[in-house]
Amino acid sequence: MSDPNDTQQLTLTGSEQEDLDPAHLARFQFERAVIHLSHFKQGLVDFLVAPKRVLEVNFPIELDDGSVKNFKGYRVLHNRVLGPGKGGIRYHPEVNREEVIALATLMTWKCALIDVPYGGAKGGVRCDTKQLSQVELRKLTRRFITELGDNIGPNTDIPAPDMYTDEQTMSWVYDTYDILHPGRNNLPVVTGKPLDLGGSFGRKEATGRGVLYATQRYLEKDGVAGLPEISGASVVIQGFGEVGGTAARLFQKEGAKIIALSDSHGGIYSEEGIDLEAAREFKQTHGMLVGLPNTTTMTNADMLELPCDILIPAALGNQIHRQNASRIQARLLVEAANGPTTAAADDILSERGIPVLPDILVNSGGVTVSYFEWVQNIGNERWSLAEVRQKLQKRMYTAVDTTLHRWDKLQTPEQPTQIEAAADETGSYNVPINLRTAALCVAISRVANVTLERGIWP
Ligand code: NAD
Repeated sequence: MSDPNDTQQLTLTGSEQEDLDPAHLARFQFERAVIHLSHFKQGLVDFLVAPKRVLEVNFPIELDDGSVKNFKGYRVLHNRVLGPGKGGIRYHPEVNREEVIALATLMTWKCALIDVPYGGAKGGVRCDTKQLSQVELRKLTRRFITELGDNIGPNTDIPAPDMYTDEQTMSWVYDTYDILHPGRNNLPVVTGKPLDLGGSFGRKEATGRGVLYATQRYLEKDGVAGLPEISGASVVIQGFGEVGGTAARLFQKEGAKIIALSDSHGGIYSEEGIDLEAAREFKQTHGMLVGLPNTTTMTNADMLELPCDILIPAALGNQIHRQNASRIQARLLVEAANGPTTAAADDILSERGIPVLPDILVNSGGVTVSYFEWVQNIGNERWSLAEVRQKLQKRMYTAVDTTLHRWDKLQTPEQPTQIEAAADETGSYNVPINLRTAALCVAISRVANVTLERGIWP
């Protein structure tokens, strides 16, 4: 995300108030899935949800004006049963321990679902990048990576960019690690690097392209009655950044009509479809989309409720919630952002028969191409853009197929076990089984099965 001040707060009041804590949402979704995995022992389930390691570091930086400031940073390795930890580093004033743990947990499920041999990890430093110069950011990055020491490494825990960190930050991460570990190939210690420093073709577009592939496959598999393909579909996209902007371009190329788009300043609408080239130029000149000729202005909230075939939230979390879920008029919700749908909204949409392609599936293109970068770095190779895209498509399609297969099986459970029967009495087993639960069941089962195959130590 490009601006910490973009964070839109939801104002929910009185009895309508929802728990919007991302850590609670992740835990709730996990618990809903493990109801259907009752063959795993409780102790194993407890292990799967808890982070393996939480590091908290404090370090000082001398600022440009000569003053000294202390910073707090975190690196969480949630699980490394499938392979080394993988997850971004975030620089944001609100970074905190619980949030980093929740994001690391989600990475474990995302990597398992898309079938890359990684565990989940995440890191962050509590800071406001807008208040720091490039020199200060470089010092902060180098000192943070030094503090993490051998807790990161090409075969142990591999960082990547996240909010307010980019290719430049990853170059400093690599350089610092390389200086501390000379004489070996350290390129695979971090992904999201610039192309001429071991980055991969297709990394920048990967998440948006993954959104396209996941949607394409789901429609091909008759996910939405009467909507067999993207061509001809009307699409609303919230967010016009790296993910939303790429998705808009690719969906339009596939023949979709982008009828509404937004950024933090508001939304724009055109029944005939928005000219994306003009939108990009207008945003570059004016810093916002609102005001683009031949479009109507609307709020981000109203835009989400437009009638359309496909709604793609690609900005913030908690955008579709208890209060607006009953007014969503899309035929398919594609979660490009992390956590855009609250637990209550999930249930309302399930009951209304609106399918939700979940975030851990839809936005896993980014970590997939990060994995490709790592493989190329280890083998001293460079794959062509066409090769990267073809490999990404294969993995996204397989993940959609696997999720659908699991969803199908969950609709007709065998004899309920004791745990399922108990959950049934509380009503929690009876909630509609959605694609998120199915995707989580696939991911959690993979990690649980490999844990058992490896054998509980000693
Ligand atoms: P970005 O910073 O490039 O773009 C974010 C966009 O959201 C911007 O256009 C911004 O104006 C807009 N925005 C901010 N506040 C808004 C608001 N209140 N209403 C509407 N729009 C608003 O970020 P990104 O990399 O495109 O990430 C978008 C989402 O995708 C995030 O949830 C992120 O966690 C998730 N995601 C990104 C990647 C990736 O590879 N970039 C991977 C997985 C998940």
